[in-house]
Amino acid sequence: MAVMRIRPGREKSLLRRHPWVFSGAVAKVCGDPQAGETVRIEASDGSFLAWGAYSPHSQIQARVWTWDEGEKVDAGFFRRRLCAALALRQALIPAGETSAERLVHGESDGLPGLVVDRYGDTLVAQFLSSGSEYWRSTLADLLVELSAAERLFERSDVDVRRLEGLPERVCPVRGDEPPDPLEIVENGLRFQVGVRGGHKTGFYLDQRRNRKRVRELAQGREVLDCFCYTGGFSTYALAGGATAVIAVDSSADALAAARANIELNGFPVDKVTFVEADVFKYLRTLRDQGRSFDMIILDPPKFAQTAAQAQRAARGYKDINLLALKLLRPGGMLVTFSCSGGVTADLFQKIVAGAALDSGREALIVEHLQQGPDHPVALNFPEGAYLKGLVVRVSS
Ligand code: SAH
Repeated sequence: MAVMRIRPGREKSLLRRHPWVFSGAVAKVCGDPQAGETVRIEASDGSFLAWGAYSPHSQIQARVWTWDEGEKVDAGFFRRRLCAALALRQALIPAGETSAERLVHGESDGLPGLVVDRYGDTLVAQFLSSGSEYWRSTLADLLVELSAAERLFERSDVDVRRLEGLPERVCPVRGDEPPDPLEIVENGLRFQVGVRGGHKTGFYLDQRRNRKRVRELAQGREVLDCFCYTGGFSTYALAGGATAVIAVDSSADALAAARANIELNGFPVDKVTFVEADVFKYLRTLRDQGRSFDMIILDPPKFAQTAAQAQRAARGYKDINLLALKLLRPGGMLVTFSCSGGVTADLFQKIVAGAALDSGREALIVEHLQQGPDHPVALNFPEGAYLKGLVVRVSS
């Protein structure tokens, strides 16, 4: 059995059950384990800390599978973890109105490096670490069996694979090629999802609840949906009775998909203006034109991966939030998000507060938003809470 010995004093985070072992905390690795193999993680005195997957090429040299010395990491282990993850979703997402959800959310489901989304009878998986890669075949069999899905498609085309020394991979793993696009229902609305080439595994499932909230708030409002991607928020805004929507994205393909999704739901596409532009520039154009809106959604891509990049990210967030606040009519709502791991909820709120101050607008936070319940956050893994949002109302 291979052993990973932790440096004296560096076992603290493991004792608090944080599942990552950084290379700096490792004194030595004995037994020549292969990438992904299970290692016994021990304190400097040889006492047991955890069983984890070895990642020789990554800064995160091991990810913990279990804290229980007596628990064997085998197919039975993965069956138990996957059953628990599936049961959680069954309890949280009402069946019928929604056919797409995150089934496995990595560390927070006790399965580090594994992400699985369900789009109807198609599963889309990302194997993000050496450990999940090592168990890929076992996991694929179990996922198909336990979810009764028809197929499992892999979208392991993500940067973090490179950090693990793993090549990108996009292919069917079990069953046939998925339809492209396939169609899902979310809160009763229909969406086409490109699971082969779309962002993440095809759709931003983490925004499901927040999109619903936008539907509830959109009645009678003129809406500006910035970073609209395939039109999630725009479609919900129309469903909620928005009078007009401007949907902005830098990607022409995303805008074409947004148009298709709005048509798919039978909403009048003439209420929507699709704008292919850089949001940073376009907000300035709108300002120069003296335009104004009743609701503005800002859902930008990740500006900062790590806390070290937070400074630069903060400038980006401040810029767009400041411009957006200035474009709101009295009583208007800003629905603003950050999905940057390096920007905490606290910092994000400070950035938006700074933007409000500089905009000269009086504004209130009326709601805090976050990722949906199928993207849970294990209490021992605060990094799991990556999506934060605010609904800010400008005073009338
Ligand atoms: N709100 C969407 C998800 C947004 S993802 C949803 O709920 O589905 C971020 C989007 O921002 C992507 O579609 C990407 O094409 C777009 N994007 C990235 N940088 C941009 C920029 N500077 N200006 C405009 N769009 C940008």
